[in-house]
Formats: sequence, C-alpha cells, structure tokens
Amino acid sequence: MRHRIAVIGGGPAGLTFARVLRRHDHPVTVLERDPAPDARPPGGTLDLHENLGQLALSKAGLLAEFQALSRPEGQAMRILDVDGTVLRDWEPRPDDRANPEIDRGQLRDLLLGPLDVQWGRGVTEVVPGTRDGVLVHFADGRQETFDLVVGADGAWSRVRPAVSPATPHYTGVTMVETSLDDVDIRHPDLARLIGDGAMAVYGVNRGLVAQRNSGGHIKVYAQFRAPLDWHTNLDRHMGLNRRAGMDAGLDLADVEAVRSSLLALFDGWAAPILDLLRHGTAFVHRPLYVLPVSHTWAHVPGVTLLGDAAHLMPPLGVGANLAMLEGAELAESVAAAPGPGDLDEAVRAFEEQMWARAGRWAKITTAGLERLVSPDPAEALALFDEIQPS
Ligand SMILES: Cc1cc2nc3c(=O)[nH]c(=O)nc-3n(C[C@H](O)[C@H](O)[C@H](O)COP(=O)(O)OP(=O)(O)OC[C@H]3O[C@@H](n4cnc5c(N)ncnc54)[C@H](O)[C@@H]3O)c2cc1C
Repeated sequence: MRHRIAVIGGGPAGLTFARVLRRHDHPVTVLERDPAPDARPPGGTLDLHENLGQLALSKAGLLAEFQALSRPEGQAMRILDVDGTVLRDWEPRPDDRANPEIDRGQLRDLLLGPLDVQWGRGVTEVVPGTRDGVLVHFADGRQETFDLVVGADGAWSRVRPAVSPATPHYTGVTMVETSLDDVDIRHPDLARLIGDGAMAVYGVNRGLVAQRNSGGHIKVYAQFRAPLDWHTNLDRHMGLNRRAGMDAGLDLADVEAVRSSLLALFDGWAAPILDLLRHGTAFVHRPLYVLPVSHTWAHVPGVTLLGDAAHLMPPLGVGANLAMLEGAELAESVAAAPGPGDLDEAVRAFEEQMWARAGRWAKITTAGLERLVSPDPAEALALFDEIQPS
C-alpha cells in the first residue's frame, strides 16, 4: 500500500528520510520553507560518524559518493593554550575513516540528488486526527492532507506542537560565528595554525574553535557563557570595561562593534589566536538552545518528529548524524509497513528506538558543553583525552 507521506523540512533528517524512502520505491512529498536550496549559507563542516551518519548514507546508497567527497584528514584536532602553546596535536591515521568531514552544502547536494523538493512551502501548523488524515497548513494559506507527517523542521519546529508542548530553552552558552576565505593564500600563518582539521582554545568560561572547510574556507566559533541578553549591556553582563569606541549596548549587526567586543572578551589570548577574530568577515550570533534531555511524547497517530525537532542538543558533533540515521531508519520501517495499522506500529517502534538513543546522546552532549565552556579550562582538555583515540 502506498501511504501518503510528507516530510516537513529539507535538512539532513528530512532529505535522508526522503532518499531512503525513494530507494524503496515509496513516494514522499518533501516540503521545505526555504525558497531555494542555496537561499541561505549552508553552514560549516560536519563530521559523519561510521555508525551514525555514514550508516544512514549507506542505507541511502550514497556511501561511495560521500567517501569521494569527504575529507578524512579533516578529523585532525589541535588544542592550544590561551598563550598559543600546543597542548594536543592529534592526526588521523591515513586509513582512518571513522569521522571524515564534509561541507554541509556538499552533503545537502548529495542528499538532494534526484529528489523533487517543494521549495518555499513553509508549514505553519499540523492538525492530526481529521476525517481524511493529518491536515497541514501552509504559510500561503493552502492546506493538504497526508497519512503520515514527519516533522524534520529543526529547532523551532512547527510540527512539534502537534505531539508535544516542549520548547527549546537557552543553555547559558552563546556562539558567535565568523569565517575566513582563501586562508592558505591570504592568511598562511593561520592556515598552519589550524592545520587540516580543527583547532580549539579553551579559557575560563569561553573558547574559540576554528574548523577548516573545503576550498580554504575556515569557520570560527567564539563561545562563551553569558546571559541571553549579554549584548544589551557589555559592562553589566560581560564585565567588559568600556573602551574607546565601545558602547554599553552592542548592535549585533555592526561587524566592527562585534569584532571589538569579542577582542575585548578574549583579551590577553595569544595574538595569532585573536587574528581569527581580527580577520573574520561577518559575525553571526548563535545562542545555543536545547530541548529537555530525554524529550519524549505520547504517541500521536499520523505525526512524528526527527532530528533537532525531536531532540535539539548542544552542537558537539552528533546532531546531524542522529538526524540522518533516524531519517534512514524511519524510512525503512515505513516502507516495510503494508497497511495503515502497520504504519502506526512502525512509527511507534521507531520512536521508542529514537528516544532511547537520542536520550543517551543528549546526556553526553549536555555534560560535554558544561565541561568545554567551563570555569576550569582543564576540563575541556580532560574531555578531549577521554574521547580521542590515542
Ligand atoms: C554551530 C553548529 C555546529 C554543528 N556541528 C555539527 C557537527 O559537526 N556534526 C553534527 O552531527 N551536528 C552538528 N551540528 C548540529 C546539526 O547542525 C543539527 O543537529 C542538524 O542540522 C539537524 O538536522 P535537522 O534536519 O533535524 O534540522 P535542520 O538542519 O535545522 O533542518 C531543518 C530544515 O527544516 C526547514 N524548516 C524549518 N521550519 C520549517 C517550516 N515551518 N516549514 C518547512 N520547512 C521548515 C529549514 O529551512 C531546514 O531546511 C551543529 C550545529 C551547530 C549550530
């Protein structure tokens, strides 16, 4: 039987779900709010784990293509002290394929392949239990009905309210993201400092992480503990003495003002590390939000969630991996369900499995964030030593 299935959101979760369903010759409607695939910058690099994201790609028949695109050397990780001393310098073995990196844009294009995504179709509400199935309302006022609606629409999901009242809360940690282009040519010293993979520096309640993407592009994440409204009063909230040209309140759209505030926040760190901020282009403000650890809900026939919509957690290298594996697993279960009752049973069983795995990772990443951006920088180093293969 061909169930009418819609997935809301064309991120890693939604696209993997759709690709695996299509591989099983099952039709699926992919509804994405963005007007086009390249409507927004795709974001930084992702490492896909052998037993998570790569397993999902293998279920989609895309592992060989991923291997051709990905950067195993990008697994390299260097940790520096705030004075620039190299504390750890880990490089993968030449045959190590445990967590190769791939640019998000490359991953999106790989997953998109022949999929027929409906772009510019923002969903506003999902109403289960109507006479004809699950009703989906769109921002343009249209409506459609499906047998199963899969919410893969990320942190601020519009599908989630149909199954759960949970909403994301602020972790107390904010990231400000910036980037550098053509680093090997324009900033060779920084290129050497970062190496082939990522470089991280941890201080008291703050850190700076730089990650190499393909094509000499570097993403830099300044992370710090701060109230959500830290930028409204730098003196009061951040203990930053007002310097020449620095106002008490920071306009986050003012690139130079954000740069000087970050340089003041990381004052005293070695000059080459601060060059990452000095040469960064635009700055993007990303307060980190999470859903409650072990978020579950009472099963609602005809609606389920995947990825960040189900279990938004701190970005410690696993969110996209889980999202993709869940997409692949749900697609396999749904494709194998012959009748309407089987479909519901398949979704129920999938949810139990997703909740158990995501709950474990939410605990790990929540504890990890506490240790990475912590009053004691030695905690970050200890965490690295615990997880990094020797
Ligand atoms: C700075 C940072 C670094 C990270 N690094 C890593 C990493 O290295 N490894 C890793 O595994 N994870 C990483 N993550 C986490 C990862 O980005 C997410 O977990 C992952 O993107 C979740 O995928 P998703 O498909 O569930 O949601 P998303 O990627 O958020 O995709 C949701 C999609 O739904 C669409 N959408 C939203 N609302 C609607 C609507 N109402 N109607 C229709 N469409 C809608 C959006 O436009 C989007 O395309 C990182 C996160 C951050 C913030």
